[in-house]
Amino acid sequence: MKNTIATLVRWSGFGALQRFLKARHAVTIVVYHDPTPEVLREHLRWYAKHYSFTTLDAVAGAMETGRWDRLPAYPLVITLDDGHRNNTALAALFREFDLRPTIYLCSGIVGTARPYWWKTAAADSIGVERLKRVPDPERRRLLAEAGDDPDRDGADRQAMTWDEIARMTDVADYGAHTRTHPILLRCDDRDCADEITLCRTELEDRLGQPCRHFAFPNGDFSDREVEEIRRAGYRTARSIDPGWNDAATDPLRLKAFPVSDDVTVDWLSVQLTGIPAWLRKRRTAAADVSTGGATPEWAGPMVKPKSAGI
Ligand SMILES: [Zn+2]
Repeated sequence: MKNTIATLVRWSGFGALQRFLKARHAVTIVVYHDPTPEVLREHLRWYAKHYSFTTLDAVAGAMETGRWDRLPAYPLVITLDDGHRNNTALAALFREFDLRPTIYLCSGIVGTARPYWWKTAAADSIGVERLKRVPDPERRRLLAEAGDDPDRDGADRQAMTWDEIARMTDVADYGAHTRTHPILLRCDDRDCADEITLCRTELEDRLGQPCRHFAFPNGDFSDREVEEIRRAGYRTARSIDPGWNDAATDPLRLKAFPVSDDVTVDWLSVQLTGIPAWLRKRRTAAADVSTGGATPEWAGPMVKPKSAGI
């Protein structure tokens, strides 16, 4: 099914037409989590043929000044969420392709052996989707009771160390992704504000440089989160709502295309049409209405990213 769709998109010229119509003068942002250097190299080769790499700072500058002419044609920003330890293996690629991604860090997880909670045996047994939907204190309690307390060190370190982060400052920018990666919509007002505000100050204290870009965990946000981000002084906030960014886009609601970490280049070109993410969003929304939250079978693996990232 995937191959058929990929072939259709390629041979119909739909992907190329859409790039010409949409991506020429609007910013494409792609979202990774924990790709291997081998897969990312193939992706970067493909991007380099069709886009021009730019930075989130440059995009924020264009949005703030209206000087979109300072961005290259077909501008594309690479972002990586969470701060997975294997991101350090990507530094050479960023140098080789002369690009500067933004890596969004969880300030309470990097530099520790605390787990990314959705990548634990406890989360597997309870169900990640269920955990995303319960009030945040209950999520923590359920995980702790099942043996993977998200606030305690696990057996294996999953995140980058502060040293590794510091060593990559010449090839990457760092943004904020909350302190502990809760689903912000499930937090009370105070925890929501702390997760957004303290993440910035903790990262700036550690890195000694400004941290003005934010990414919503799991892409979830409401007006409350956006207002908190504005108050905390961020320049941009990135969602995973599929689409391109232009002068009409709110910098605190940047759109982006989630890319599965292990996807083929053929399917990558399909993901950048926005169709899979759009279908997934529609189906998840439909599932919310029809099943009270559980993702039904027909939501299907075709549109669900394989990577463990959220
Ligand atoms: Zn994340």
